Amino acid sequence: MEVINPATGEREETVEEDTESDVEAALERATAAYEKWCDRPIREREKLLADAGDVLRENKRDYAATMTREMGKPISQGIAEVEKCAWACDHYAQHGSTYLENDSHPSPAGSTVETAYESLGPILAVMPWNFPFWQVFRFAAPNLTAGNVGLLKHASNVPGCAQAIEAVFEEAGYPANVFQSLLIPSDLVDDVIEDERVKAATVTGSGPAGRAVASTAGDQLKKTVLELGGSDPFVVLDDADLTDAAETAAWARNQNGGQSCIAAKRFLVQTGVYDDFLDQFVDEIESLTVGDPMDEQTDIGPQARTDLMEDLHEQVDASIEAGARALIGGEPMDRDGAYYPPTILVDVPEDCPADSEETFGPVAAVYEIDDEAAMVEKANDTEFGLGASIWTNDRERGRRLAREIDAGCVYVNQLVKSDPRVPFGGIKNSGYGRELAREGMLEFVNRKTVWVE
Ligand code: NDP
Repeated sequence: MEVINPATGEREETVEEDTESDVEAALERATAAYEKWCDRPIREREKLLADAGDVLRENKRDYAATMTREMGKPISQGIAEVEKCAWACDHYAQHGSTYLENDSHPSPAGSTVETAYESLGPILAVMPWNFPFWQVFRFAAPNLTAGNVGLLKHASNVPGCAQAIEAVFEEAGYPANVFQSLLIPSDLVDDVIEDERVKAATVTGSGPAGRAVASTAGDQLKKTVLELGGSDPFVVLDDADLTDAAETAAWARNQNGGQSCIAAKRFLVQTGVYDDFLDQFVDEIESLTVGDPMDEQTDIGPQARTDLMEDLHEQVDASIEAGARALIGGEPMDRDGAYYPPTILVDVPEDCPADSEETFGPVAAVYEIDDEAAMVEKANDTEFGLGASIWTNDRERGRRLAREIDAGCVYVNQLVKSDPRVPFGGIKNSGYGRELAREGMLEFVNRKTVWVE
């Protein structure tokens, strides 16, 4: 696996891939580790998770630098990402045993009926490069605490992050092989899913990756959770606080270089506030600093890989050819590295790529729409259904419209974000299942009914 620094285009490192026999040995070790791990008292598993949180906090700058080197994340955002992982560890260390407590049910006289939650075994996590620590901890913190063991197949451009995460658990004192990274290309993933020692799989990534894993797992009758793409609407109503909305919109689209499934991608602005919003949105975006991701002042670094930046530019080009207009940006930047400038497209025609596909980079499609009903219709006119953000000074109006939007989560006067306390996931082509909170912890457990007469 080649690590190419996207800020310079230079090869930093070549990492040896695991062979099929390495994978076989890892699966054997995972199975052996699971047999002991699932019997450890949950309090001990919680304590180890809290220690993993401490390890993360102690080394956050190093981990962030690894992300920056491998996928170009601005270092300040990398540090924040590691802190968020530590928060997820704290959360499940504190609440894990409560989340796993038995649920009791109305029981016929003379009997007690409960649901007990029991671990399943080794779970495969296929993870992307965009939040190379957070996506993994979002899986690992609840699952290891529930008594499962983790097998990570990380994206091929972030092997250093994969190795660093494995080392976090080691350093925290976890028993060997409770969490292992498999450095394998995606064409070996099917073999891992088909192996009877692997009990389930979760994917965060593109639709094609999700479909591939889900179909192989489905063939084996193994459960999957899929966290896929999004084309989240950011709805600005005519009574919104435009200053707040524009500032948040700029960040919701451009943080992490726009490479986020829950980034706001389509900005639906009500007639009456369209011109004012657009002016402020442009100003906010132009105030963001594009530059060296190792510089703490940088807001937007390079895209994670040159091929992804080129794909993004093709989407922009095709949208402009179809009639969209670039208000700012629209061409790759004239400098070394995979830099794409923040771009705003207006007059975006229906069904052009910026309208109908996920744009995984700093490209905002802005629309002027007359009335509420048309805004809801446009918000829902997408194959995706991950998140949505609604801006209005009338909270009841926001709450009402939230119920009309087809998405896994809707935030009113707030950007869409994931939070360890709150379930996270999508509908439609954004996937299924939930991560985080109690819901996330119960995805990969046997919900066992125990009836005692
Ligand atoms: P992928 O979906 O291809 O990669 C995500 C993970 O899935 C990686 O670990 C990858 O491994 C693995 N993978 C890919 N194909 C398969 C397969 N057929 N079977 C099993 N595992 C597979 O994303 P890309 O890196 O290619 O990015 C392409 C686009 O995907 C982005 O532009 C964006 O639109 C979307 N994406 C969405 C993300 C999200 O958070 N929703 C995250 C990342 C990407 P490997 O790296 O070895 O190919």
